[in-house]
Amino acid sequence: MDLSVFEEWESEVRGYIRSFPVAFDTAHGSFLVAEDGAEYLDFFAGAGTLNYGHNNPQLKTALLDYLGRDGIVHGLDLATTAKREFIETFRDLVLEPRGLRYKLQFTGPTGANAAEAAIKLARQVTGRTNVIAFTHGYHGLSLGALAATAARKYRLAGAVPLAGVTFLPYEGYYGPDVDTIAMLEKQLDDPSSGLDLPAAVIVECIQGEGGVNAASPEWLRAVARLAADRNIPLIVDDIQAGCGRSGDFFSFEESGIRPDLVLLSKSLSGYGLPMAIVLIRPELDVWAPGGHTGTFRGNNLGFVGATAALRSYWSDAVFSAEVRRKGELLRERLAAIVARHPAELEVRGRGLFRGLASTVDPEFGARVSRWSFAHGLVVETAGAYDEVVKFLPALTIDDADLLRGVDLVEQAVEAALVSA
Ligand code: PLP
Repeated sequence: MDLSVFEEWESEVRGYIRSFPVAFDTAHGSFLVAEDGAEYLDFFAGAGTLNYGHNNPQLKTALLDYLGRDGIVHGLDLATTAKREFIETFRDLVLEPRGLRYKLQFTGPTGANAAEAAIKLARQVTGRTNVIAFTHGYHGLSLGALAATAARKYRLAGAVPLAGVTFLPYEGYYGPDVDTIAMLEKQLDDPSSGLDLPAAVIVECIQGEGGVNAASPEWLRAVARLAADRNIPLIVDDIQAGCGRSGDFFSFEESGIRPDLVLLSKSLSGYGLPMAIVLIRPELDVWAPGGHTGTFRGNNLGFVGATAALRSYWSDAVFSAEVRRKGELLRERLAAIVARHPAELEVRGRGLFRGLASTVDPEFGARVSRWSFAHGLVVETAGAYDEVVKFLPALTIDDADLLRGVDLVEQAVEAALVSA
């Protein structure tokens, strides 16, 4: 397939094209179709942006209807019918059934911009600067968000000093026997620990880019309690783990915590359209009008897709039960692979957000991904060294496709272990 125009004209910054070097043309459900007609089973789902699959027919109908009646597409932050319907639907199907009350901030349409906004707001509210983030955390690559992103390759690319964030160990960072909550508590309460009292704690309940590390409910509850006791706003970054990926709409639901700020993007619009929001505990909503603005905060196609996705999948508990069931199926199959190589591999994650990690081979993920792609499966890597194979199938995937993909990964793992 001819990719020369990309090589000649597109910046060296291009990334995924290097791992999956074909030109894709169409897509449906869990499949991507390349220009030569080859079909690829998609276990990456736009890095978690296509929880409802590619070109989901229910969402497409809503979008086509909206375009067909000349619904406003670009709306800055003007009031629009589509935005009202989204807010009302989000209130009725997501917030109120969970007993949650948040104001909605529509930020620029990237996850990074939502992270920027939440960090700014927490700093305004508290008058403090420092933010606590966690090892292996990922919150985006614009400078404010980048300061809270752990990976050195991205931090170096920022090419400026990244200030105002202290990284503390995530659960399990020093192994199962080290209590990272006790460390956090001690550093917070010791006036001479060197840790400035933070404006916020920002955490992913399941770290995506960092290696599919799922925090336990106990750990999350302890973080939330430590933050609440000290009046430190807790930001949950649910950009990758949210919108159903964990088996609940929000990844923090299992733990019962109530974050002060929540970030959503990626699968929020349902159809892969850019959209991001910050959910704000009402008392923290101290923004001055226009205090965080941006041209693309009113992507009304995003609102229409999001409303249709919520109505189609979140009106009752059927969809989330299905996600949990398929997540368990995936976990069992991965556990069976690990059982054959217990000294080398481990399974991670929750819901339909799973990782197969090598504990010995930093290139394991990259090798499995490469082999899988050559055999028709798109699956990405995660972790500090790309040692983790990251499973993000569409939540709508059927069992047969899910199992077919895992069969391929199983073969890829054997091939990767042999070639290591
Ligand atoms: N936060 C998390 C947890 C993410 O996974 C990502 C993207 O992968 C981001 C923030 C940044 O989102 P974006 O790439 O849309 O800026």
